[in-house]
Amino acid sequence: MKVPILTYHSSNIDGNDYVTNNHVALAEDLHTIARLGLRIVPVARVVDVLLGEAPPASVKNAVALTCDDGSYFDWHDMKHPRHGPQRGFAGILRDHTARTGQPAQMTSFVIVSPEARAVLDVTCMAGRDWWRDDWWRDAASEGVIAIENHSWDHNHATLPRTVQREQNKGTFETIDSYADADAEIRAAADWLNVHLAPNRSTLFAYPYGEWNDYLVREYLPHYIHEHRLRAAFTGEPHPVEANTDRWLLPRYVCGPHWKTPDELESLLRGMRV
Ligand SMILES: [Zn+2]
Repeated sequence: MKVPILTYHSSNIDGNDYVTNNHVALAEDLHTIARLGLRIVPVARVVDVLLGEAPPASVKNAVALTCDDGSYFDWHDMKHPRHGPQRGFAGILRDHTARTGQPAQMTSFVIVSPEARAVLDVTCMAGRDWWRDDWWRDAASEGVIAIENHSWDHNHATLPRTVQREQNKGTFETIDSYADADAEIRAAADWLNVHLAPNRSTLFAYPYGEWNDYLVREYLPHYIHEHRLRAAFTGEPHPVEANTDRWLLPRYVCGPHWKTPDELESLLRGMRV
């Protein structure tokens, strides 16, 4: 088992070329993936295989796709105020399936708190109410974009208050107590389970890709009966292999870990078995 998980951010739109726009990059990368004869599998299936609940053959020569934060650009075709019309990630995936006949699914790790998203929409995007959750249920039932947990409020530095008790914001390394982990992780999972029922949230991606020993060695393994998660994802550039820690599943991030179609191609060629 050697499966790369590729990660995108739909709000990364600083132009309309591969380096400056993750929508352009995703569309191009789907061509590369198809040309190399790789299959796209849901990231949940990678976890199934890791946990011995599906055969390794079901992820042979496969890649999985994820995106983070959960804004409208994941789902809607949108007109960017500076860079014009953008095809949403969902549309890019549907286009790929229509063209190739191959299924293409992505998992979006969303910031769950509605209040946090309303503030982040102003501090991190254009302030046009583009970070609502009114598309999550449609996405979850259609299946092209699965919705999973990226914490309650990202412990984001631009929020006036987060659920981190000492207000040590702008990092996830300070989520190092039961109270903080319960508020950032379990509460977010519960919200998703209530609002997207009958879907169950079972996957978590660390905000900023940051984790600590308390989360990985104590909270996540010992409180499964409370948070009900099966795996957690970082942002470290490695494939998932048979001996990967389920609470530290690595992901390659578009931009930091590859910047051109050629770089992605050589990365993916190294995975083939
Ligand atoms: Zn994030």
